[in-house]
Amino acid sequence: MSTKKRGQRKRKVEDDTREGKGGGPAHGEGLKEKVPPRKGQGKRKMRGKAKYIGAHVSISGGIWKAVKDSVDIGGRSFAMFLGSQRSWQRPPLDSKAAEKFREACAEHGFEPTYILPHGSYLMNCGSPKQDIFEKSQAMLVDELNRCSALGLNQFNLHPGSSLGSITTEQCLEKIAQAINHAHQQTSSVITVLENMSGQGSTVGGQFSELRTIIDRVRDQSRVGVCLDTCHAFAAGYDLSAKGGVKSMLDEFDQVVGLHYLRAIHLNDSKGKLGCHLDRHEDIGHGKIGLSAFRDVVNEPRLDNIPLILETPGRPGFEYAEQIALLYSLCEN
Ligand SMILES: [Zn+2]
Ligand SMILES: [Zn+2]
Repeated sequence: MSTKKRGQRKRKVEDDTREGKGGGPAHGEGLKEKVPPRKGQGKRKMRGKAKYIGAHVSISGGIWKAVKDSVDIGGRSFAMFLGSQRSWQRPPLDSKAAEKFREACAEHGFEPTYILPHGSYLMNCGSPKQDIFEKSQAMLVDELNRCSALGLNQFNLHPGSSLGSITTEQCLEKIAQAINHAHQQTSSVITVLENMSGQGSTVGGQFSELRTIIDRVRDQSRVGVCLDTCHAFAAGYDLSAKGGVKSMLDEFDQVVGLHYLRAIHLNDSKGKLGCHLDRHEDIGHGKIGLSAFRDVVNEPRLDNIPLILETPGRPGFEYAEQIALLYSLCEN
C-alpha cells in the first residue's frame, strides 16, 4: 500500500483505501459452488484458475463488508486494514463483527490463505525512538490477535524505517526483535514482510534486507514475504524489461527463498525504475506496463497465493475492470 494519497476521489473515511463500489462480475468458477459464476461467462472454462486476484477493500461500515465487496468486484482474494489508521488506541475488535466476518468468508468461499490483512501505517517496528518502537511492538501483537479472532493466519506489514538516525542494520535488528516479541505473545499467525520502494529511510527495499530480518526471526515457520510490484520497480528491480518478472523471482529465490513468498501486491508504478517513490498506478498505465502483468498472471510460481491490487482506480477502470483485465491475460 502506498502511504501517499492515491486516487482522485475524495474518501469518506481515511481508514479505507477504497470505497468498495465494485459491481463487476464475480470470478466464481473454480471456487466453491456458493460463489456466483462470472456474469456472461456461462459454462466457458475459467482462465487463471490458479490465480487468486483480488484487491485491498474497505472495512467502512463493518469488517465483514470487505468480503461481499470483494465478491462484487470479482476478487478471489483480498486485503483490508484491521482498524483505524489514525490512532494507536483502537477499540477492540467486536466479537460479533469477527463472527460475521468468518461467516461471510465461509459463505463466499474465501479461505484464509487468500486473505492478507494489511498493518497500520502508524507502526514502525524499526523506529529509533523507544516510545514509538514500544507502541509498534504492542500494536503488532494486537494486529496478530485480531487476525486470530477473524480466523486468519497471516498478516502483512511494512518492515519499518530508520528515520535516518540509526543504521539500516540496527533498524533490521529492531524489526526482528519486535517480530520475535509478537510471536512470543501470540500463537500462530504468520508475519508477512512487504518489500519497500526505499523511499526516505524505509528499509526492506532490497531482498537482502528482508533476508536479514528473516534470519533473525526465531520461528521461521511464522515469517513470510509479500512482494509489491510497484515497490520492487521503484527499488530498482526492472519488471518492465523482457523477462523482468522471471528474473526478479529468480533473484528473490536466491536471496530469500521462494517458499517464503506468501503474496503479491499488484501495482503499476507512477515513478520510473529505481526512483524510490511509492506511487501506485493503475495496471498498464504506469512505468511497469501491461506486459509485465501478463507475465505475472502467467507465472506458475505465483499460483495459489493472493495477488492483490492496491491501485488508485480511474473512471471505467476501477478494481473490477482491472481484475477482469488481468484474468483476460491468463493463458490458461
Ligand atoms: Zn503495503
Ligand atoms: Zn505502496
